[in-house]
Amino acid sequence: MKKLLAAVSVSVLAMTAAANAQVTEEMLANDRTDTSNVVTNGMGRDLQRYSPLETLNKDNVKNLVPAWAFSMGGEKQRGQETQPLVYDGIMYVTGSYSRLYAIDVATGKEIWQYDARLPEGILPCCDVINRGAAIYGDKIFFGTLDARIVALDLKTGDVVWRDKIADYKAGYSYTAAPLIVNGLVVTGNSGGEFGIVGEVQARNADTGEVVWTRPMIEGHMGTLNGKESTMTGTLNATWPGDLWKTGGGATWLGGSYDIETDTLVFGAGNPAPWNSWLRNAGEPTDGNKGDNLYAASRVGIDPHTGDIKWHFQTTPREGWDYDGVNEVVAYTDRSGNKRFATADRNGFFYVLNREDGAFVSAKPFVKDISWAEGIDETGRPIYVEGNRPGNPANATDGGKGEVVFASPSFLGGKNWMPMAFSQHTGNFYVPSNEWGMDIWNEPVTYKKGAAYLGSGFTIKPNYEDHIGSLKAIDPDTGEWVWEYKNEAPLWGGVMTTAGGLVFFGTPEGEFIALDDATGEKLWSFQTGSGIVGQPITWEMEGEQYVSVVSGWGGAVPLWGGEVAKKVNYLNQGGMVWTFKLPKQMAAN
Ligand code: CA
Repeated sequence: MKKLLAAVSVSVLAMTAAANAQVTEEMLANDRTDTSNVVTNGMGRDLQRYSPLETLNKDNVKNLVPAWAFSMGGEKQRGQETQPLVYDGIMYVTGSYSRLYAIDVATGKEIWQYDARLPEGILPCCDVINRGAAIYGDKIFFGTLDARIVALDLKTGDVVWRDKIADYKAGYSYTAAPLIVNGLVVTGNSGGEFGIVGEVQARNADTGEVVWTRPMIEGHMGTLNGKESTMTGTLNATWPGDLWKTGGGATWLGGSYDIETDTLVFGAGNPAPWNSWLRNAGEPTDGNKGDNLYAASRVGIDPHTGDIKWHFQTTPREGWDYDGVNEVVAYTDRSGNKRFATADRNGFFYVLNREDGAFVSAKPFVKDISWAEGIDETGRPIYVEGNRPGNPANATDGGKGEVVFASPSFLGGKNWMPMAFSQHTGNFYVPSNEWGMDIWNEPVTYKKGAAYLGSGFTIKPNYEDHIGSLKAIDPDTGEWVWEYKNEAPLWGGVMTTAGGLVFFGTPEGEFIALDDATGEKLWSFQTGSGIVGQPITWEMEGEQYVSVVSGWGGAVPLWGGEVAKKVNYLNQGGMVWTFKLPKQMAAN
């Protein structure tokens, strides 16, 4: 990596002032194998979250100790769902309320801090969180709660450019880590509960100029270089009337990039409103008329033009808020097949073909799925019609439709929190939750900037002793190799290592390392607040480091119904914890 840096700085950057080190497309592409830096969200744009480091292993992880801790400060400490980046001796980490910190990675001392000035009246649905930044060239990029994207100078934190993704007054916000591909900053948007329209946008990283846009709901036009390009889908093919105009499909978790097929993969959230009868009053025998593409889908996008290459819809005519946004991880299975895997909100773990997104298999990754009996050989759910929340139009009093108990809950068998793939075992490690909900539909009309649901709900635990469930899943068979139960719902990311370790955190504040083969707990550390962040690891001067951000918050305390009451004793926070295995203790 040093050699590459040297070559770049001689050929391209010799003339730039200060000749700062620059992050290149090659470095982003190599992030999955470079152990000295972490320059992408997901530890590689395939989002495997797997480190080839084995300095830290099953025998010596008991010697992992804190190196430093950093407080994000202020009065706004909550919901730290971020993943730190490490580059050139500096850690970059985002915090709640659209803040970004540069920290000396050797000492934990702050270098600079950027605090976005947010307007009154922002409408983040699910706490004031941020899920991370992206680095390219001499800049760092991150999104803000008022639906903007900001580019800062890596060294100083000064604003280089800033642009509006969408109108926060209409319910848009932005919380995902941006994705950099070939010099483009690619972003999604949030706001699926406000009748917004999900979109993917690509900007020139140097200038902030928009190169292309791709709306996720059929009937809307994409753009390329400032002109209309192609329509998303076919107008009114799967949406009745004008509902597509406020059709949802928020791309709120960002995306991944498969370099081998040169494809961006973004997920789209729930169709709006939640009440599915408004979007399809008919029966499922109406063919695909009410599928509401491309909501609740994964979509493969050409990174050069923004055109759609393929799509796979996990929940057609979705009606439980089973957003289709969960991360799509590119991997190679044990037989050498190139695959994608994704664990959907709807409770099924899908394997897709990487070339064209075609369906390969789907198996449950939670215990009590009630809305579908399974997934058929085409990838379509086999619905349990009685588990669809009732049509309020049939209510005799004009009020709510029939209440059903559906599982998983709308917060999903798995929500945003990223799973990890291990090249060491060939298994996925999926943070899941065992919960359900009472859900019903009710009348609703669209009003700009107001919640557009047409549903009510109460989340309930499915088991007395646990909601959280981290599962090791064999993607070839869908079988669960082991399960680690946790009392509170899991809401943070997972990381695997070649040393045979699985790292994750709990709302109770424990940062934990498990044995990847057995699920046995090998190490844990109490961080003082709930962990909803995403761990990373890297190596510096021959020692392996691990970092995670601690700070309880996110959607569970806000929307968790009976589960929220169960976890209301947990303290909020905002602390970056960095651990290391001291050289002299590496032998074990
Ligand atoms: Ca949603």
